[in-house]
Amino acid sequence: MAREVVHLERSRSWFSGTATTLCGITYPRGKHKTFWFASTNCRACLAIQKAEGR
Ligand SMILES: [Zn+2]
Repeated sequence: MAREVVHLERSRSWFSGTATTLCGITYPRGKHKTFWFASTNCRACLAIQKAEGR
């Protein structure tokens, strides 16, 4: 039941390791998964992705 939500990444700071998702969540270094863009299941990310035509 505990399906993990995968977000799409908007940007990432390679200096701090902080990643920001399309839906506005910021993950500190080491707290985020690396399979961005693969298969998001975050509804907010999908909606924004569609709105931006990505
Ligand atoms: Zn998201």
